[in-house]
Amino acid sequence: MTDTTWHNAHPARLEEQLDDDVVRCHLSPRNCRIRPGQHGFCMVRANHDGHLVSLNYGRSVHATEETIETEAVFHYAPGARILSMGNVGCMLNCDYCHNWKTSQARYIDGKDVYHYTPEQVVDIAKQHGIKVISWTYNDPVVWHEFVVETARLAKQAGIVNLYKSAFFISGEAIEELIPVIDIFSISIKSLDPAYYRKITKGWLEPVLEGTEQVFRAGKHVEVSTLMVTDLSDDEKTAQAMAEFVGGRLSPRVPTHFVRFHPDYKMTDTIRTPIERLEGARRIALDMGLQHVYLGNVYDTDSTTTTCRGCGAVQVTRYGLNAQPVGLTSEGLCSSCGTDAHFTLFTETDRRTTVAQLPGPGFDTASFEWHGDVRAVHVQVRNDSSQAETVYQRRFGDPEIAESWSTIPLRPGESFRFIAAKSTIGEQGVTVAVPHGCTSSLHEVFDRAHFPTVEVGAGSRNADVTPLPVFQPRAR
Ligand code: SF4
Repeated sequence: MTDTTWHNAHPARLEEQLDDDVVRCHLSPRNCRIRPGQHGFCMVRANHDGHLVSLNYGRSVHATEETIETEAVFHYAPGARILSMGNVGCMLNCDYCHNWKTSQARYIDGKDVYHYTPEQVVDIAKQHGIKVISWTYNDPVVWHEFVVETARLAKQAGIVNLYKSAFFISGEAIEELIPVIDIFSISIKSLDPAYYRKITKGWLEPVLEGTEQVFRAGKHVEVSTLMVTDLSDDEKTAQAMAEFVGGRLSPRVPTHFVRFHPDYKMTDTIRTPIERLEGARRIALDMGLQHVYLGNVYDTDSTTTTCRGCGAVQVTRYGLNAQPVGLTSEGLCSSCGTDAHFTLFTETDRRTTVAQLPGPGFDTASFEWHGDVRAVHVQVRNDSSQAETVYQRRFGDPEIAESWSTIPLRPGESFRFIAAKSTIGEQGVTVAVPHGCTSSLHEVFDRAHFPTVEVGAGSRNADVTPLPVFQPRAR
């Protein structure tokens, strides 16, 4: 992707023609001015013969089934399966990015890039009964043309579109998203303009204005802030976030304070202390926000939804898993009727389960949760000429009946899904793969992380970046 490979070029929108075949890109507030043969800051939009082109159209990391909680979305179809799509490049360059191997295009490895058409993406979702496509990971902003075209097709097929982004995007581009995107999960890195300039290489106000723009358009909006140890995990950040959400959006907008882990250029530090996250949550609640949660924190009540009216538990969560237990189909408290501000699906999207494998002929692999690694991506491929079924089940929790969840695969199909620790007692996951299929496991470190290295191929380092430590490349 570092080479400007024109055979991948796709006409890009939001172009301004300048003199001497120079173009300006109006997709992000950076408004890069790009000379012929050059690319913009994101490295995936370029000037080819005097025209703005996208170099990553249809180029994606592997489509992956996850849950909606992965995207810091707690008030829309809790527990819903989503199809996560991520690409290459970013309009920011955050010092702690945990997807830096795909967001910073110069580090991308060709083995991690797959090609999809809009029709194929929608087809995968339909085949697997997935009702939400999530545009996520590196950042969907720099995939604009592919996102808009695919989301439009998905919408026509009755599929919901979720946009998980740092939202450093122009107002013009947002107007093109509004007709096709239903849910916006926006990561506001800080409320400090100097922080934005220094740590993200972007700037703050367009992010806030964009968030207001989609909220005013009536979209489902949730916001999150990564609380970086000793940098943005203080009371001031929590207060500023609560002021923004309560003042410029609404106190009912779900707000997430997210635990940071060292990564990319920021490895000489530690994970955010949990008491600081709990303190931030208390501040935001005291300032009047109605739904405040912690992210990347397990074994806490601060991910549970309780009724603001009567205190009844409405949704229980553990990590990336959720269980509605006290909501009506209209999203009201089933005990007292208070509006809990939820949108729910009318039909279940859960996979079918079986008590036992249908017979011999399976290879099994088990993965134990360890340290802060409590989720794994499983990638499977059906190399046979007939339909096959892959199974997965959790083990170790005596309270939970161990049943196998089924994942049907078409001949030749490659599929990837997340298995995330779902109870305190659970110890790991077992995957059963029929002969004729292959599989690989990839450790997930915190939510919305797309791992590129297989288990066994990298070093483990319990509480810091789990796989090969960042080594700056010679330029
Ligand atoms: S998307 Fe942003 S960073 Fe990329 S070329 Fe356009 S203006 Fe520049």
